[in-house]
Amino acid sequence: MDKQSCQSSGRCLQAAPEVFAWDADRLAHALPQAREWPEARLVAIARDCPAMAIVLVDDAGSEVDPYA
Ligand code: SF4
Repeated sequence: MDKQSCQSSGRCLQAAPEVFAWDADRLAHALPQAREWPEARLVAIARDCPAMAIVLVDDAGSEVDPYA
């Protein structure tokens, strides 16, 4: 998660409140259980983020481009 880019739209929390939460500054962050979620669902949520603030990383630690 690129918290500095988060615009606090709340879209990710609406889509997956089990996976995303607000911090004290009302910036979204991903919870550890995000690792258990299907990649396709996380990709869809990342694409819906107006700030492109959701950074997806695969098991090898490489960044996943949600628009690829
Ligand atoms: S969808 Fe993006 S901009 Fe909106 S709260 Fe989540 S991370 Fe922040």
